[in-house]
Amino acid sequence: MTATILDGRAVSARILERVSDDVEKFVAAYDRAPTLATVLVGDDPASHTYVRMKANRCAKAGISSRRIDLAAEVTTAELVGRIRALSDDPAVDGILLQHPVPAGIDERAAFEAIAPGKDVDGVTRTSFATMAFAEGGFESATPGGIMALLDAYDIPLSGKHAVVVGRSPILGKPAGMLLLARDATVTYCHSRTPSLGDRIAEADVVVAAAGRPGLIRGEWIKPGAVVVDAGYADNTGDVEFEAAAERASFITPVPGGVGPMTIATLLVQTVRAAYEHESAREKEFPM
Ligand code: NAP
Repeated sequence: MTATILDGRAVSARILERVSDDVEKFVAAYDRAPTLATVLVGDDPASHTYVRMKANRCAKAGISSRRIDLAAEVTTAELVGRIRALSDDPAVDGILLQHPVPAGIDERAAFEAIAPGKDVDGVTRTSFATMAFAEGGFESATPGGIMALLDAYDIPLSGKHAVVVGRSPILGKPAGMLLLARDATVTYCHSRTPSLGDRIAEADVVVAAAGRPGLIRGEWIKPGAVVVDAGYADNTGDVEFEAAAERASFITPVPGGVGPMTIATLLVQTVRAAYEHESAREKEFPM
C-alpha cells in the first residue's frame, strides 16, 4: 500500500478534546451543559447503534443528551409534533433525527420541523442553502466531517477536480457544495451516470457516497488522487480499498475514516449552537 491513511479516529479524537474544553468553559459561564436531543424512530439495529455511539461521545465530551424513542408506526404528524416541541424547548440546543426514518414517514417534513438554529446535523433546507451560499450556517455533518478531515491533512482543494459519487441532500450534494466553496471543480455522479470509471479516472479528489460496496474499482483511481469513502453498507465502503490504496496518495479506511468525523462535526456544532443560544438570550435580556 502506498497511500497515507486519512485517520478519522485520530483526527476526531483531537477535535473531541477541543470540544470537551469548550464544554467546560460553557458550563463555567452558563451553569448548564449544552444539550443534544436525539429522535430515533423504529427499531433498526444499525440506527440504534449509531444513536448509542453518538450519546457515548456526547457523554465523554460533557454534552448532555436527551433521547426520544418512537415506534416505527408513528405518523408523520406525531413525529413533526415531537420535533417541533424540541425546537421550542429552550433547554435543547441541538436536534438530531436519526435517519433514514421508516418507510411511510415523510422524512423531509420531519427534518423541516427542526428549528434552523438547532439543526446541528445540517439536514434542513435552511442549512442546505447556507452551505450552498457559503454563509456559515450548520454544515451537513458528514460532508462537514469530510472537509475537516481533508483540512487536518492540509490537502489542497483549490483548482482540483473533485468527483462526488452520490447526490443525496444530506451527503453527496452538500459535499459537492462545500468542495465548490473551496474552489474545487466539482463533478457529481449518480446512478444514471454512464462510464463512471472514466469520470473517476479524471478525479484529483474522489468522494464516494453511494452505499454500494465495491462500486469504485481501485484501477479507476488516478495515481496520486485523494480518496474519501463515505459509503457504509454491510460493513464495507464504496471503494475497493486495497487496490485503490496502491494508486491513491491519501485514502480513508472504512470504518475509521469518515464515520468518526461525522460524530465530531455533530458535537462541534452542538456546542456552537449552545453558545449561539446563550448569546441570543443575552441580547434579548441584557444584564
Ligand atoms: P442515498 O440517499 O441512498 O444516496 C445514494 C446515492 O448514491 C444516490 O444519489 C444514488 O444515485 C447514488 N448511487 C447509487 N447507486 C449508484 C451507482 N451504481 N453509481 C453511481 N451512483 C449511485 O444514501 P446516503 O444517505 O447519501 O448515504 C450514502 C452512503 O453513505 C450509505 O452507504 C450510507 O450508509 C453512508 N453514510 C455514511 C455516513 C457516515 O457517517 N460515514 C453518514 C451518512 C451516510 P441516484 O440519486 O441516481 O439514486
